[in-house]
Amino acid sequence: MAETAKPKKTVSPGVLALRKVVEDVYADARVAKQEGKPVGWSSSKFPCELYEAFGLNVVYPENQAAGIAANRDGEVMCQAAEDLGFDNDICGYARISLAYAAGKRAAKKLDPETLEYVIDPNSGKPLKDENGNVVIDPETGKPKKDPKTLAPYTELVDINELWAMPDGEEKEKRLAAIKPYRQMQMPMPDFVLCCNNICNCMTKWYENIARMHNIPLVMVDIPYNNTVEVDDAYVAYIRGQFDDAIKQLEKISGRKFDEKKFEDACAHANRTAKAWLKVCDYLQYKPAPYSGFDLFNHMADVVTARGRREAAEAFELLATEMEEHIKSGTTTTPFPEQFRVMFEGIPCWPKLPALFKPLKANGVNVTAVVYAPAFGFVYNNLDEMVRAYCKAPNSVCIEQGVDWREGICRDNKVDGVLVHYNRSCKPWSGYMAEMQRRFTKDLGVPTAGFDGDQADPRNFNAAQYETRVQGLVEAMQENKRLKEEGKA
Ligand code: SF4
Repeated sequence: MAETAKPKKTVSPGVLALRKVVEDVYADARVAKQEGKPVGWSSSKFPCELYEAFGLNVVYPENQAAGIAANRDGEVMCQAAEDLGFDNDICGYARISLAYAAGKRAAKKLDPETLEYVIDPNSGKPLKDENGNVVIDPETGKPKKDPKTLAPYTELVDINELWAMPDGEEKEKRLAAIKPYRQMQMPMPDFVLCCNNICNCMTKWYENIARMHNIPLVMVDIPYNNTVEVDDAYVAYIRGQFDDAIKQLEKISGRKFDEKKFEDACAHANRTAKAWLKVCDYLQYKPAPYSGFDLFNHMADVVTARGRREAAEAFELLATEMEEHIKSGTTTTPFPEQFRVMFEGIPCWPKLPALFKPLKANGVNVTAVVYAPAFGFVYNNLDEMVRAYCKAPNSVCIEQGVDWREGICRDNKVDGVLVHYNRSCKPWSGYMAEMQRRFTKDLGVPTAGFDGDQADPRNFNAAQYETRVQGLVEAMQENKRLKEEGKA
């Protein structure tokens, strides 16, 4: 029987628009650097509205690190940071970023004599015959690799050493061997913007970068919230820091604070947040119009450009596309939804296919995530803006954290919870065992935890993960059976 070609996966206009927004942010930053304009590095939940008021170019090391990890270069960069003296226990994003800031880059390996790429024979995709069947190598009994997809080994290089080389062919080839994806081509910083509403690892991470490059650090300190309401004294303390940050940014940019630009950025950020929260909420529908993994893929978009008009428009387009799916009862999830789960925590970026495979095999759709809606800052005035920035997942008390998650689980009708014990993110994973206990008790759904890491693949074990997913599926099946028999 003749093989039918696999249909090509189409990418929707909303997704394409979001990709372009992020590409443009990186491209604009590279151009700004070449033109001698200052480029900043910012923590993901620093109030972007402040620097947008100065028209400054800013990029995000957390997204960069996630991208580097997803491109399978997390390990070489984490190891590079460890070789510089940073502990293996520090967040993987921080290690990747610190290695990058120190000049380390993942590059395609070059033969020092010939300056040709050294190809890794184990890389690439299996070779297929004209009928689409995998070709087996008779000598090894293993699938043969398609020579067209073979790639060079990865090696670590130091950009400062390359820049110091005399001009010529070797220098050009070595610079060209640096991996071409945008996260490995991010310009170095001229200032850093840090807000520790995410975690305090961030503070030390950005202090180190500022020290390495001898550049200004703009710091906004957000105290941990032991109460559900944000105290007025916190608001006054943080607003005072905004004033100070504005003065620093005036010096860095050489411009005066532009009230109009600030108001525009606030308006765009609110539009982005509202559209983003709508998209997140659409996971409540059955079947969900898409998977929580799609939300993870849009994290870079919402972080990188939320204060820009283009991002607001692209997210509104994405929301409209999701509404169409809901109306027509379709979904972008590539399998029928049998179970719905909340995925707790940040995904293991270097291992996304391994994460997805057993879920797909068991019809488990991720219909709830905590990480994504955490970037939906909605406010009407400056005090509300401050309060919104106080509400990051790692800066709120456990009661609020449990409440958020259980609300999402109920609204999004989950049958179980899959908890990522993320070796990188101590503040997130630290209280997770207690949260997991409460989910089971309060929601009456099974939960399963697995060990992993958002950026360092050495901390993930696919076999353990598959076993835990299997256990969760069996428990969800049993719950379903009991419900159908009216016993639960
Ligand atoms: S919140 Fe967690 S993942 Fe994010 S920077 Fe801090 S330690 Fe790393």
